[in-house]
This record gives sequence, C-alpha cells and structure tokens, in this order.
Amino acid sequence: MIYLDYQATTPLAPEARDAMLSWLGGPETSGFANPHSPHRPGRAAAAAVEVAREQVAALLPPGGRVIFTGSATEALNLAILGSGARRLAVSAIEHAAVLDTARFVQPDAAVLPVGADGLVAQDAALPSGVDLVAVMQVNNEIGTIQPVAELAAAAHQAGALFLCDAVQGAGKLAPPLGADMIALSAHKLYGPKGIGALWVRDGLELAPLIHGGGQEGGLRSGTLSPALCAGFGAAAKRAMAHRDEDAAHVAELWHAARAILSDWTLNGSAHARWLGNLNLRRDGLDVARLMSDLRTVAFSAGSACASGSGRTSHVLAALGLSGGQAKSSIRLGFGVYSTLRDIEDACVSIRAAAAAQGV
Ligand code: PLP
Repeated sequence: MIYLDYQATTPLAPEARDAMLSWLGGPETSGFANPHSPHRPGRAAAAAVEVAREQVAALLPPGGRVIFTGSATEALNLAILGSGARRLAVSAIEHAAVLDTARFVQPDAAVLPVGADGLVAQDAALPSGVDLVAVMQVNNEIGTIQPVAELAAAAHQAGALFLCDAVQGAGKLAPPLGADMIALSAHKLYGPKGIGALWVRDGLELAPLIHGGGQEGGLRSGTLSPALCAGFGAAAKRAMAHRDEDAAHVAELWHAARAILSDWTLNGSAHARWLGNLNLRRDGLDVARLMSDLRTVAFSAGSACASGSGRTSHVLAALGLSGGQAKSSIRLGFGVYSTLRDIEDACVSIRAAAAAQGV
C-alpha cells in the first residue's frame, strides 16, 4: 500500500512512539501516574507533560502559552467559543472545525472569499464591528499558504482578535505571526491522534468549554494523558530539528509527481503552497472509479471530509471550480516517510488508470 493521504493523518514518528511507551504505564512501572497527583510518580508524570509543553511551544511564536486539548477541533472550539466573540469573519476555505463553529455562534458569519489561486486577499474587506477573524495557515485540501501576518494585522486594525488554524503548517513552516490564538494537532505532524493544542497569546483571557478539575489553568478540565503529551512533544521536537530537510524532501517528491502528471491541472496557487499537497484535476475523470481501480494507493478525492459524503468540496467551489471540475479532482498528500519510488509508482499508476478511462 502506498499511503498518499498525509493531510488526513500522518504515521507516528518512531521518536514519538518511543517517547509514549514509557508513559503508557503497566502496573510494574510508575508511568501510569496521574500527572495532577502531588506524589512523586505524579510529579514525574507532570514533569514529562511540561517537557512536552515546551517542545510544542517551540513550534509557536514567543509570548504565549500552550493549552493541551483532545484535538485541534476542540482547540478551535475553545478559541472561538471561549473568546466570547459574537461577530465573526472566516475564510471560505476554513476546515469545518472553524466554519461550523463560527456558524454555530453566528449563523450569518462573514465569509472572506478566496481567489482562483486559493488565497484570501491581503486587503480583504472585514465587516465593521467584527470581533474575531479566522484564517488558516495552510489549507488541508489544496495546500495554499495564506498571508496570515497581513491578515492578522488587518484584523487588529479592525479591533478584532485573530485565530489561525495552523494544523497543516505546524512543524513544517515557521509559525504564523501576529495571531492571538493558534490551533495545532499532533497527528498531522507525526504525533499521536487524540491530542491537540491551543496557543493563546499572553494576556488574552478565554472562558473554558469543559468544567471540572481545573487542569490546564482552568481552561480545559480533565486528566491529561502523559503518553499523548510526550508523543506530541517528541514529534514537535523532531519537526523542529528536521524542518528544512523535511521541506526539501517533499519538494523533491512534488516535482517528481508534477512531472509525471504534467498535463493535469493544479488546483490552487503553484507558488504559495506547502509542497506535500498536490491537488490536481483532469476533466472527465471518474474519481470513484480511479479509487476502486487503484486499491493499493491510499489517496483522497478532494478532501477526506468531503469524500464519501457526496458533497462537492466547499474549498474547490470557493476557488470557482464547477461541480464537475471539483468531482474530477484528487489530492495526493505525502511527507517524511514517502519515498520517491512510492510517488513515481503511484503517479504512473494514476496516469495509466486515467488513460484507461479515456481521459
Ligand atoms: N484543521 C485542519 C486544517 C485540519 O486539516 C484538521 C484535520 O483534518 C483539523 C483542523 C481538525 O484536526 P483534529 O483531527 O485534531 O480535530
């Protein structure tokens, strides 16, 4: 099986798995202790959590604190609901975790359009009286990188807070600058599933969504998992140490894939993008048939969330693609553990299977 769905999730890095093992804790070890207990094993677990917090914080700008959550979805809910904002503006290509939460707060939340290149205009008009603007760093479906610093400055100018969903960029790119809140997810950067984080700028107060024991500074009650925290921390440390070589590796794979599928059309900007995401279309392509013909290549139709639902991707629609164009699009996502051979074999198979469809 060739795995080309790195935007949906990434494999667990061996470093992250090793870091987790000692905190999974059988009865013969003390690694099962509750990190909120005051006794010695508890304090050791708490120390491991704090090491992990520092490692995750190293991916983020200075001047803020990291709150561990169960996922990026939870972090984004905490940011939007906990900020108390009532009037919201979000980009048209946000993940459902932002779009649906914004619409829960304000059903007619303002939507900032994107151009055919998948980028929000730096001078996008913000509605007057807006309290919170949310624009992601890297889009999960098409990989475009937004001008976050400029958009954050515009939000502040308008008197609003700025939230950045950095799930697909964290550990891969320099952190988004100027944001008041940044959401991350461990499983998109070679860490475990079931843990995310919200970075909150110093001085910004939020209201908790989850009440109880007062963990995470009262913002997110519930016993933390030292194993998940340690895995997230080790993955963050790995990402920091290898950021440039990881980027060079995916760039090499991207160019190889582009060369093989050279007459396919790229969705979104060719320049402002994370090269581990290749979203392509081919007029007339039957993506469901392509997927069933290529059972040994794991890739996505449009996006993991949209595929299978029968809905057209809201991201591809926002770029101005017709329903037919969106439905003839595929997303190839690759990363650290993808090999050149994987990419070449998969792209040659995709090209041949499309040719067999006559497209
Ligand atoms: N934001 C983006 C851009 C994503 O790609 C995802 C996951 O698909 C999420 C948020 C949600 O992350 P999690 O799985 O940690 O809830």
